[in-house]
Amino acid sequence: MRQKIVAGNWKMNKTLVEAQSLTSEIANMVEDEAPSDVKVVIAPPAPFIYAVENLIPEMGQIVLAGQNCHQEDAGAFTGEVSAPMLKSLGAQYVILGHSERREHFSETDEELAKKTDNALKNDLKVIFCCGEPLEIREADTQNEYVTKQLTNSLFHLTPEQFKNIVIAYEPIWAIGTGKTASSQQAQDMHKTIREHIAAKFGQDAANKTSILYGGSCKPDNAKELFSQPDVDGGLIGGASLKSRDFTDIIKSF
Ligand code: PEP
Repeated sequence: MRQKIVAGNWKMNKTLVEAQSLTSEIANMVEDEAPSDVKVVIAPPAPFIYAVENLIPEMGQIVLAGQNCHQEDAGAFTGEVSAPMLKSLGAQYVILGHSERREHFSETDEELAKKTDNALKNDLKVIFCCGEPLEIREADTQNEYVTKQLTNSLFHLTPEQFKNIVIAYEPIWAIGTGKTASSQQAQDMHKTIREHIAAKFGQDAANKTSILYGGSCKPDNAKELFSQPDVDGGLIGGASLKSRDFTDIIKSF
């Protein structure tokens, strides 16, 4: 019923030649080994999107994403990347609201609402990241924290617009730390997120929304995470930089 998705976020890693090699390796492995019903999204650094685009097969199982975009189409914003630019490079998706963007670049829920509007206007699907820091998890207020992030940035959308949103739940304490949320913790939060979406956009929309887990997802824990009823795939950081690990994660479905 829902699209299964495994997305690789390369962050600020790789040179051009390395990015091309990694893309070719992933393309070959996915073609030979991956289940055909899993959509594979790769998010290289923006300068490499165009150069890797011709290395992925045209069948459409692998698609490209930006890691961020600005809320304006164009203008005097030195160093920024716009949604029309990503689209013109061949991206179909953009990751928005990653915790590293929220932390290091002070992105707020309100700014992310504008970025989401602009990405959708430019025909990009949005992988929208949410997730709580450790102190919120320790206070057991993660459900309120995460649902508020979603309400603030996404609940102004129309049901039609919301069809182009993928949610990525990424507990901050699990990102790049080697500490994965247990499959039960992931399932509990994904269920909460789905119920929250249902309350706003209806059960049918919620049932169709892909919700990905992110945070130290590796080949050895992906199978258990992906077997949870509300976990529809993963947003992968570190392990997406190794073609073997990334493909093995895709094969966990
Ligand atoms: C991420 O940054 O989105 C992420 C999930 O990273 P990692 O897999 O390295 O924890």
